Amino acid sequence: MVKSEISVWEDCLEFIKNQVGDQPFKTWFEPIKPLALRETTLTIQVPSQFFYEYLEEHYVHVLRQCILHQLGPEGKLEYSVIVDSGSVQNQPYMVTLPNQNQSGNKWDKKANRQPEMVNPFAMPSLDEGSRYSNLNPNYSFDNYIEGDCNRLARSAGIAVAEKPGITSFNPLMIYGGVGLGKTHLVQAIGNTVTAQSEKNFVLYVSSEKFTTQFTDAIKNNSIQSFTNYYLQVDTLIIDDVQFFAGKEKTQEMFFHIFNHLHQNGKQIIMSSDRAPRDLKGLQDRLLSRFKWGLTADLQMPDFETRMAIIMRKMQSDGIYIPDDVVEYLAYSVDTNVRELEGVLISLIAHATLNKTDINLELAKQTLKNIVHDIESEVGIDYIQKTVGEYFQISVDQLKDKTRKKEIVIARQVAMYLCKEYTNHSLKSIGYHFGGRDHSTVIHAVQSVSDMMDIDRKFSESIDELKKKMKMKLV
Ligand code: ADP
Ligand code: MG
Repeated sequence: MVKSEISVWEDCLEFIKNQVGDQPFKTWFEPIKPLALRETTLTIQVPSQFFYEYLEEHYVHVLRQCILHQLGPEGKLEYSVIVDSGSVQNQPYMVTLPNQNQSGNKWDKKANRQPEMVNPFAMPSLDEGSRYSNLNPNYSFDNYIEGDCNRLARSAGIAVAEKPGITSFNPLMIYGGVGLGKTHLVQAIGNTVTAQSEKNFVLYVSSEKFTTQFTDAIKNNSIQSFTNYYLQVDTLIIDDVQFFAGKEKTQEMFFHIFNHLHQNGKQIIMSSDRAPRDLKGLQDRLLSRFKWGLTADLQMPDFETRMAIIMRKMQSDGIYIPDDVVEYLAYSVDTNVRELEGVLISLIAHATLNKTDINLELAKQTLKNIVHDIESEVGIDYIQKTVGEYFQISVDQLKDKTRKKEIVIARQVAMYLCKEYTNHSLKSIGYHFGGRDHSTVIHAVQSVSDMMDIDRKFSESIDELKKKMKMKLV
């Protein structure tokens, strides 16, 4: 019977599972994909260089044993590493594991191409002929977790990356709040295009940088080379276009470049921290261009997606975190992905410094240092704002005399939370709600407690609001 790479690898996994613990198996072996079996050489794909090195350090013997068992003494294992850092192009390169006779030594890495070190944040030079993309190779689709929050944007991004300039998503405009993954997504598009075609000149630039380059060009009398440089781009990625607001001359220049590239079938990708209709200070003619293609938004990932993001990060760093901690973090940090990553990094740092395992206790402690102390930090303003947002009414309405039922309820909830979470007296709370007296506050607190007892849905809403109080992050 002819064996396939899949069946050979499955048999290897069976063997490995019995040799290593449950958790290491999950962390280090489940993510591996068998790619090919040529004669007695099995090629497997590992997610990162770090991953490969870790396997080399810790599991070489197990791997050798199972290859010997499966493929005989001539058996070889080849790694295909998804290059995760330092490489301009995101193409896998191969590392060959020598056969058993050469055991004992560290393996030679026969990389087809040595990764070039680049500074991803360097300024692109404006010399014509220079084709420096300014992309950070760490941003890929592979490590951009999909969820309801980003499905449209992500799949449009993939479509554009596969056929830049050809789909109707031109320009592609991605918008979303801070830390939700705009830069990651637009750079993933750029990296994919670059990996597919070296000929396609991809340029990533923030609109701030574009503005600086443009003003410098005016100062130095070099507008012509500025324009020429941009007109040779095949895929132009402009990050954070909201910075163009109010900069008339820069917008004009961008408008010119935009039109030229678009007419010539070049791809334009933009990001913004708000929806195009809210981009104040941008000329209408520019805004109308943005609408030619597709506009897609990014939202805060939901709980499950946050879990997936944490697990993915852990895996690429080769770190194991118990499930209950992953859940706890995903539950607790619901502001944005950057913040979530920040908490993870602190957690890892704490564990490393204290030489302890990462467990729930440590996670709670770490988070406590980051989260405001609720009693002392949550103020009446914050509660009013949060409750207002939750019930979609304004803070003014919470304070005024309206007796509309939904406003009365929201007002009572806000008073109740003020009583729970601040040290203000009943009198002071009443004062902050349009000068009401303390008996109104007592009545509000009582009504909310009563309603929580009889109305489960209402009680869940209060729990959700309480969670927001607790998770008020720095
Ligand atoms: P923005 O540009 O919107 O402010 P970034 O693209 O800089 O946000 O994202 C912040 C951090 O969160 C980055 O490290 C990014 O890799 C990470 N991130 C955001 N969204 C995701 C996602 N869906 N999957 C994995 N990582 C993500
Ligand atoms: Mg960004």
